[in-house]
This record gives sequence, structure tokens and C-alpha cells, in this order.
Amino acid sequence: MSKSLQAIRGMNDILPEQTPAWRYLERTFADLLDGYGYSEIRLPILEFTELFARGIGEGTDVVDKEMYTFLDRNEESLTLRPEGTAGTVRAVLEHGMTGGGQVQKLWYAGPMFRYEKPQKGRYRQFHQIGVEVFNLAGPDIDAELIVLTWRLWKKLGLADSVTLQLNSLGSSEARATYRDALVAFLKERYDQLDEDSQRRLTTNPLRILDSKNETTQALLVGAPTLHDYLDEESRVHFEGLKARLDAAGIAYEINPKLVRGLDYYSRTVFEWVTTKLGSQGTVCAGGRYDGLVTQFGGKPTPGVGFAMGVERLVLLLETLGLVPAELARPADLYVCAFGEPAELAALTLAERLRDALPGVRLLVNAGAGSFKSQFKKADKSGAQFALIMGDDELAARVVGFKPLRGEGEQQNIAWDALPEHLAACLKQA
Ligand code: ATP
Ligand code: MG
Repeated sequence: MSKSLQAIRGMNDILPEQTPAWRYLERTFADLLDGYGYSEIRLPILEFTELFARGIGEGTDVVDKEMYTFLDRNEESLTLRPEGTAGTVRAVLEHGMTGGGQVQKLWYAGPMFRYEKPQKGRYRQFHQIGVEVFNLAGPDIDAELIVLTWRLWKKLGLADSVTLQLNSLGSSEARATYRDALVAFLKERYDQLDEDSQRRLTTNPLRILDSKNETTQALLVGAPTLHDYLDEESRVHFEGLKARLDAAGIAYEINPKLVRGLDYYSRTVFEWVTTKLGSQGTVCAGGRYDGLVTQFGGKPTPGVGFAMGVERLVLLLETLGLVPAELARPADLYVCAFGEPAELAALTLAERLRDALPGVRLLVNAGAGSFKSQFKKADKSGAQFALIMGDDELAARVVGFKPLRGEGEQQNIAWDALPEHLAACLKQA
């Protein structure tokens, strides 16, 4: 196939054999969030470029290197959303949803776009499920977000496969003071820094802390740490969060180098990490962004949230064999019909059975076919039972009922008795 007729690199089709795992994850999450009183918000995939440039911040990888930006027909610069927080903040401001200190507990799910080097667990169109909470400033809500993700891991069977990393970035003033100290320290060692870190020294020095370069990491051992610069209020907030996680029995590891790639975070930042996916091991990441709303011209509004990488979580569920087989369950019943009168009757019968047996999976043979070919298809479908209709059955107002798995002879069942008979047989199967 010519290249222009193939999918764009890093943008994947999610094929029928994968969608059950996706739906499982999405549904489990949505049900869980219902239980915490969060509401779903659905946002556009395209926004003005300015929103992300201002919200995420110049000097971040996302804004400098990873955005899909283009001019539309009106010569306006638009960008495919690389994450969900900026759009959510725009929406709550635009609709006055946070005015007067109103609390908002929101979640979203959908595709995000970043121009990155595609590899396992890292794509150009990927999907996030995220949560954003507005107008709650205390550590209790930071804790709630972590508690609810913990509940999700337990529900999915992932609790033993992920660990929580935690840090506090302090207030923006504290961070600025720390940044200066870090820059002073690293400037003296400029020549030993890797190229990326040399560049970041002027653009976004905190990001040097999570550099993957070993020499740089070795240099950082003696560097000042953020915790030495934490302001008193942030320290109290962080202690409050830790006390709540302790009370909830959630283990965490303090990682002073956890700074997160986006500019808007302050105080709490956290990541859920797995060792089972290779180097793309962060499955959920988030933190507090109390300054973001004012950056967009809103009144000071505390905010906190997280986003999970759906591809990485699905990969993890598949790797660990945790997608319930039941989800990919084949049809229960396969209807074969021979001759047009029977085909027409089969159509109505199938609809009646769908009414009578909620949740039944019923496949009707499409396109006529010989007895042999229809049975072959019925068998291949994986269905438990075949229902057979021909002229004789039609005349006698019965249906041929044939178990496709294991023992059992074909028998005729009267139309009226069929729903009850099927319900009993399906229950047994
Ligand atoms: P990373 O350090 O892996 O690049 P990030 O800090 O850029 O992650 P966030 O912006 O915090 O990631 O996004 C939250 C989550 O979304 C990540 O933890 C990850 O699970 C997922 N994610 C981010 N970028 C990608 C991508 N390109 N492909 C697949 N998943 C991604
Ligand atoms: Mg990234």
C-alpha cells in the first residue's frame, strides 16, 4: 500500500481484538468516578495554540517540540491538544464554573497528540483519562485523587504492579529560589552536562533533574534539593498529604527529583510507575496547579489533577493477563435461516429474542448459504447454540435448536417456549 494510504506513524488503529480491554478500562474508571461524585466533561480536540503555549509553558518539551500546530483556513494558529488540563481550565473559565469558589470535580477521556519518537508505550496519538478538581486547596483532595487511583489499581488487579512516587515542588516563589540555586550549582559544572541539559539550563533547569543521562545524574548527587527550599505552607501541605496516605494505608516513595514535564505544577506532584513496561513506565501522573487559572486571567483558583496513559495501562493489563475473558465473549446464539420466508421470520424472531433476553449476544447469518456453509459459520462464530429456521420449521411454528459445543441433539422448540428454553440453556452454558 502506498505510504499516503497508511496510518500516520505513531497513530494507531485500535482493532476489534483490543477494544474489549479499552472499554473495560474506560468503564471501570467511569463507574469508579461516579462513586466519588465526579462529573464527565467533553472538550474539543483542537484549541488555539496560544492556550497551550501559555498554559503548559514555553521551554517545556511539549510546547517546544511536540505540538501538532497548523494554520486553519482562517490563518489562525490551532493545535491538536497535547493534554487535557489547559482545555479544562479554559472551559471552566469560559462557562463560569469556578466563580464564587464553586468546587468542580471533573473527568475526561480522549485522544491527545504529541510529536514524539514513536516506540512501545509512546505514540503520537495516544489516549488519556484524566481528572481535574477546582477550588479545593487542602491536602485532603490531593489524597483523594491518589486514593481513587489506588482503588482503580485494586479493581483492575494492578495494585502489586505499580508504585507511587511523590514530591512537593513548593510555591512558585520557593521554586524560583531553588531554581537559582540549582542553576548556580550546575553552571559550575556546565561542561560535564549532556547537551539536552545544557540547553535546559536556560530554558527549564528543573527538568534537568529527571535527565536520563548517567553523567548528569551523577553530577546531581551533590546538588541542592528542592526540599531544602520548601516554603513553610507547602511543607505543612505535604505533611498533611503524607499523613492521609499513611492513614489510607497507601505506600509511597518520596522522589525529590520528580518535577514533571509541564510548567504549571506547584506543591504536590505524583506518578504511578510500573517496572513491567520497560522504560515507558509511568502510567499515571499528576499534581497541583494552583497558579494556572490566574495565568489564564481567572481569579486565583486552586486546582489539582492527574492523567493516566490508556495505552500503557491496556498494555499492562494485557501483559499481566488481566483483561477478563468474558469481555471478548463470542455470540451466544447463531441464527441460520434457509429460504426467504424463513429469513424474514428469523429477523423478527431475533428481535423478539433481544427483547426477551436482555444482554443476549445474537448473531443472525447474513447472506443466504447452503446448510453446510451456514453451519460452518455458526460453529466458527464461537456461539453456544444455533437456531435453525427453514420452511418446515416455519410451518410448524418451531425453531430447530442445536448445541454447538459438546453433546446434545438438535430438537424443535415451539416459538412461544423459546425464550424460556434459551434462558435456561444459556444459564447452564
Ligand atoms: P513521559 O515522561 O512518559 O513523557 P509526560 O510527563 O510527558 O510522560 P504527562 O504529560 O504527565 O506525561 O501525561 C500523563 C500520562 O500520559 C503519562 O504518564 C503517560 O502514561 C501518558 N503519556 C504521555 N505521553 C504519551 C505518549 N506520547 N504516548 C502514550 N502515552 C503517553
Ligand atoms: Mg513526555
